[in-house]
Amino acid sequence: MSIAICPGSFDPITKGHLDIIDRASTIFEKVIVAVAHNMEKKPLFTPQERIEFISDALNDYNNVEIDSFTGLLVDYAKKKNAKAIIRGLRAVSDFEFEIQMALMNRRLHGEIVTAFMAANEKYTYLNSRIIKEIAQLKGDVSKFVTPLVEEQLKKKYMNK
Ligand code: ADP
Repeated sequence: MSIAICPGSFDPITKGHLDIIDRASTIFEKVIVAVAHNMEKKPLFTPQERIEFISDALNDYNNVEIDSFTGLLVDYAKKKNAKAIIRGLRAVSDFEFEIQMALMNRRLHGEIVTAFMAANEKYTYLNSRIIKEIAQLKGDVSKFVTPLVEEQLKKKYMNK
């Protein structure tokens, strides 16, 4: 079975992420969306909350699984028998970091391929940080996230 991992912080999941996961699900037999437990990034939402938002958004996909991981991504990918790690590329600015990660991951586990997908042009400017900033300033994020994420962002920033 061809398995791909879509890793990320997903704090919270946006329509940019969903676009990449959707396309990955048409290429691979199984896609695992893997939420990274990276406390250094000081996430707004807990891993459980992030998983809940992703599950809600991907309810209709029967070949997409949601999971979380700690430690090295390549070790996790190997454990899951994944052939590929999928990453989205929005702009040249993503490239430097992503290629470094991909090459390092190849040194660590040469059999796992990192594949880049061009972001949908509708969402190239979109990332989770910008969404949180807009929500915090009481802006409208409904075009960029699911209704559940929109509601939960409002709740988080209600009294701030
Ligand atoms: P990380 O903290 O690992 O960068 P993110 O949650 O920010 O995790 O992103 C996870 C993946 O989704 C990355 O490959 C990132 O490039 C991709 N991604 C994020 N936003 C978009 C977007 N708007 N369009 C396409 N891909 C995106």
